[in-house]
Amino acid sequence: MYHGTPKHPPISNYSIPAAQFYRHLTYLKKNGWHTTSISDLLKSSNLPDKTVALTFDDGYADNYENAFLPLLEKNMKATWFITTDCIGRHAKWMGQPSSQTQMLTTGQLREMSAAGMEIGSHTCSHPDLSTLSFQQQKQELSKSQHVLEDLLQTFVTGFAYPYGRYNEESLTAAKEVGYHWACSTRSGWLHKEQNPLLIRRVTIFAGDTTAVLARKLIFADNDVGWKKMVAYYGTRLKGKCLKNLTT
Ligand SMILES: [Zn+2]
Repeated sequence: MYHGTPKHPPISNYSIPAAQFYRHLTYLKKNGWHTTSISDLLKSSNLPDKTVALTFDDGYADNYENAFLPLLEKNMKATWFITTDCIGRHAKWMGQPSSQTQMLTTGQLREMSAAGMEIGSHTCSHPDLSTLSFQQQKQELSKSQHVLEDLLQTFVTGFAYPYGRYNEESLTAAKEVGYHWACSTRSGWLHKEQNPLLIRRVTIFAGDTTAVLARKLIFADNDVGWKKMVAYYGTRLKGKCLKNLTT
């Protein structure tokens, strides 16, 4: 899960510098990772072992030059989650407007969709869905879907929960509106037997180097700090030693 990809140092810990993002793409390509959209990931039964779905939340304008074009150049794919009230405007929830809060335009979204990128919804106004009534949730999910379908002339079958927040009613609303899948912000692998309305992702933070990315791809966890790694390998090693002693 990526967010903004600005050329300048990110104003949010959830965005990553453009140059660093480019290094991530180069790493994935060099190491044989196949990229796909979330829809294809759910549909396909025989994907290469090293398959990853890159996603971008919110719809920041800097994604166009610093993520979409590099992905296209490398023949890679991704899925974008767009907050429809903010198309061509600023992300209202990000505070003071700046180049880093500027959002993708209708023209850019059409171009990205036509080039094979997947576009999903991120609601209309980026609310915490769990604080809204059932009807309000339905409206946020349904209106944003219609706006995107009208704009792109394609079916919009998935969305991502803003702030990763949802409740039981969000799942019912999503089903009633006709979404097939939704991405949460809980970390982990995508398992086919899991509820497709609660797809797990791994968060990429501003300082994540390619070494961190590599560890996140192995552990599917947001925390791949050395402390955790040492604990993990320590337990494995201990298990191995005990096994050797008893056999
Ligand atoms: Zn968001």
